[in-house]
Amino acid sequence: MDDQDVQRIARDWISDLDLSNIRNDLTAYIKKANARLHVDDLGSGQSGTTVTIKGKTHITVNSGEPDERQRFTICHEIAHIVLGLPSRHELVPQWGYVKRDQNEVFCDTFAAELLMPWQQFQTVIRDIDEPSLAAIQQLTQEFKTSYPAACSRFSQFAPFPCAFVTMESGRIRYAARSTTLRQIGAKIPSKSPIPDASIAARLRAMEKNGTEQDTVEQDIWFDDWEAGLDLTELARHYAKTDTTVSLIWFSEEEAPRVEVDRFGSRIIEDEGLSELTGELSFSKRSRRR
Ligand SMILES: [Zn+2]
Repeated sequence: MDDQDVQRIARDWISDLDLSNIRNDLTAYIKKANARLHVDDLGSGQSGTTVTIKGKTHITVNSGEPDERQRFTICHEIAHIVLGLPSRHELVPQWGYVKRDQNEVFCDTFAAELLMPWQQFQTVIRDIDEPSLAAIQQLTQEFKTSYPAACSRFSQFAPFPCAFVTMESGRIRYAARSTTLRQIGAKIPSKSPIPDASIAARLRAMEKNGTEQDTVEQDIWFDDWEAGLDLTELARHYAKTDTTVSLIWFSEEEAPRVEVDRFGSRIIEDEGLSELTGELSFSKRSRRR
């Protein structure tokens, strides 16, 4: 099973449900999972538990946590039930990738599909011409979800080259990329330090919570990338957990002229071979002056 399998299972699982009020009420999911929901004070550090008694699954979420977190927990617990994956989370922060069990990452992916159903999400982001803090905040409100969850989902569906990078303790942990960004072979090296010239690095250096948007060079983020092209970076830093997240994007016109082989690796341009290597992903290009 990989991330795409989980996505497919989730989309199939929700396909016969009435989702018209799902942004306010998760009952349709709870019923379909044959579960019962309890809201209880679980103290700090625990988001939820799931137990099965006489064939009925009881999901308990922590009343002390914010509504958006409770919703995420409910969907994450449902994922454990539907995917048949045992729960292995004791005091593991959500939306963190450090030592996060693969099953837990799968359940987060499944939860995102439930909280932000793809058809509704696609319809909403169609009206967003250009990402911004305001646009992402709008998504968090409409889908009652966290800022990183909305950014991650946005990067998957963006019709232009876009990525969402999660960084912890100064290192890149995970990057979600839009289809167009994958197609042009843009790779963000995981486990490497946050690029010095990024907005993320600048924000983290201030050692306090902050959000900032600015323009940086594309080649600071991508492996083996053409120099001289710009992208926009919207970074946010959470000082308490030393977590930094960046949404980065550029227009297709700003994409370098590249070719990608069938493994997604970039082919270095060589005039002598151009007739053998097929189509260019993008014919237009613009350079900074
Ligand atoms: Zn879990």
